[in-house]
Amino acid sequence: MSLLDQCRHCDTPLSAEEQTSRLCDECSYFAADYQRYDALREEGYMPYQAKLICGLADPPDPDDE
Ligand SMILES: [Zn+2]
Repeated sequence: MSLLDQCRHCDTPLSAEEQTSRLCDECSYFAADYQRYDALREEGYMPYQAKLICGLADPPDPDDE
């Protein structure tokens, strides 16, 4: 199975029609965030940085240090 067959957020296998957005039904809520993420990646942001900006990743916990 290729990466394109899985939801980019939770790795759930996608149906044919879900493959357009690369997000499963449950994660289609994040579609706008991922569009922004893709735009940031094109601007040269690192994946983690771009996810932080879009709220797709948790910021580092200050208590971890
Ligand atoms: Zn998903």
